[in-house]
Amino acid sequence: MRTVSRPLLCALTALALIATVAAPWSGAPAQSRLRVLATLPDLWAITRAIVGDLGEVQVATRPGQNPHDLEIRPSQFVLVKRAEILVRNGLDEDAWIDAIIESSGNPRLLRGAPSVVEAVRGLTILKIRTGPIDRSLGDVHPSGNPHFTLDPGTLPVVTANIVAGLGRLRPDLAERLDANRRAFLDDVAAAAHRWSDALAPHRGAPLVSYHDSWPYFYQAFGLEDLGVIEDRPGVPPSPRHLIALISQMRQRRAKVVLVESWYPTDTAAAVARAAGARVLVLPQSPGAVKGTDTYIAHLDFLVTSLARALVE
Ligand SMILES: [Zn+2]
Repeated sequence: MRTVSRPLLCALTALALIATVAAPWSGAPAQSRLRVLATLPDLWAITRAIVGDLGEVQVATRPGQNPHDLEIRPSQFVLVKRAEILVRNGLDEDAWIDAIIESSGNPRLLRGAPSVVEAVRGLTILKIRTGPIDRSLGDVHPSGNPHFTLDPGTLPVVTANIVAGLGRLRPDLAERLDANRRAFLDDVAAAAHRWSDALAPHRGAPLVSYHDSWPYFYQAFGLEDLGVIEDRPGVPPSPRHLIALISQMRQRRAKVVLVESWYPTDTAAAVARAAGARVLVLPQSPGAVKGTDTYIAHLDFLVTSLARALVE
C-alpha cells in the first residue's frame, strides 16, 4: 500500500485550500461579472461607460478628494483585494496605489501585470519635466501633466487602452465592450461639438489656475494657459511669482482664476482681486458636484460654468 507522507499531505491540503480561496480570482468563469477598480474618478466615469452592465467598477478615491496627497484608508485595501483588473492614470497622479497593492496580497494588480491598464499609453503628454527634480520643486508631476482626460480628444486612445485590457482578461466580453466603447465615443463626439460651440466666443481667453490641472482642457478648447498660482505644487507660491503673475494678468486682461474645488481659495482670491479678475471654483474630476458623475455631465458642468464666468 502506498502511503502519502505527512508533510506532502499537509502541502497538498494547503494547495487545495489556496485553490479554493483563489478560485474567484483566477480563471474566472465565463459568465461572471467583471470586477474593475479605477484609481481616480475620471477613469471611473470613463470605465463605467465601457463596462455598462457587464460588471462593477469601483473607485479608490472619493469624488472631490485631492488625489495628489491622498491618505490611505483600510477600505482601499478591500477594493484592491476584490478587483481583478485595475485602470490607472499611467503617470504620477495615482502612484499612492502602489503601496496599497504591494501589501494587499493581490499581485494581479502590480504595475506591469497584464490586468493593469495604463490609460495614458499612446497619448501625447504635455509638460514633461526636464532637468533635475528635487523636493524644492514640490510635488511636481515629473513624467508630465496627468490631467489628460479633460481633453475629450484623448478619449479614443484612453478607451482603446481600457477595452484592450478588459478584453485581454475576458475575451468572451470583448465584442460587447467594444460596442459600448463605440456608443460612448459617439456620445462624447456629439457633446464635444456643444462644448466647442459654447467656448468658441472665448477663443484665446487667457486663464490662470491654482493647480496645473487644465493644460489639456485649454488645448482642446483654444484657451490660453497664462500661468498657475501653485508654481511648485504643495509649496506656498513665492510673493515674487505672484507679483509677476498679477502683472501679466493685468496686461492680458485675464478675467478668471480657476480653483480646483479641493484647494482653499484665499490666495487665488487675493490674486484675482489684485488683477481685477474673479475666482471660479471648479471640480477637476467627475462626481464632486451633484449630478456630474458621468464624463459628459462633468465636462458639461465645466464648460457651462466657464463660459458663464467669461461673459460676466
Ligand atoms: Zn495634478
